[in-house]
Amino acid sequence: MSTASQVPIRVPKAAELVASSLRRQIISGELREGDALPSEAALMKQFKVSRPTLREAYRILESESLIHVRRGARGGAMVQLPNGDVAARYAGYVLEYRGTTMSDVYLARAELEPPLARMMAARATKRDLKRLQAVLDAGDAATGDPELFVQRDIDFHLAVAQFAGNETMRVMLDMLYHIVMTARRRYVAEGKAEGGERLLAEHRAVQRTHQRLLDLVKDGDVEGAQTWWRRHLDEVTRHYLARPVAKTVVETMDQ
Ligand SMILES: [Zn+2]
Repeated sequence: MSTASQVPIRVPKAAELVASSLRRQIISGELREGDALPSEAALMKQFKVSRPTLREAYRILESESLIHVRRGARGGAMVQLPNGDVAARYAGYVLEYRGTTMSDVYLARAELEPPLARMMAARATKRDLKRLQAVLDAGDAATGDPELFVQRDIDFHLAVAQFAGNETMRVMLDMLYHIVMTARRRYVAEGKAEGGERLLAEHRAVQRTHQRLLDLVKDGDVEGAQTWWRRHLDEVTRHYLARPVAKTVVETMDQ
């Protein structure tokens, strides 16, 4: 029988230690998006490692999308900040592997968003509301351009999450929208093939619904905002599930 003291401890390889040190500098904000890492020579000297070890550390960070290595004369490692795309891709793999349905994803979104509307309504400043109105106005300007409108529509939902003030829920929602986005684009392509009138009518209705949320928030109706957002999300969920453009996450992510 083995005891804790007999369990072999895996000693991290030098490359993993170098990667972990650089990773910490990136996620702590010490290194910023677009910053170049110090030269290979400088890093080899700093960490007292060989070039192959340093390159292995680069490969680890590249696979985590935390750096981007440019080859060639003007090459080098550039910092990329962790973002929703990367989180969505990874979550997407997990959901794909488990055979998750899009209906599962839509339902998660419908549960997550209404409380965000309440939180936003409870704390939004006049300045936040102005910015939210600007996002909504950008949607008005895009109703004639279905692809652009999809982005503006999602911008509004994500702005609500942003002004709700909870970073964790915001990241989760951002991730779900990355997964939903491809299905939305397909839906738009189908709508355009039918002539686009239906899309235009739907997009105008979406704008009115979003404006109504903003008006409730301006009136300080915190519970009303949550109830309205719940109604909107339930309606959207029913709508997309009735016309499935993709049934599973794997179909969505495969594009
Ligand atoms: Zn909406």
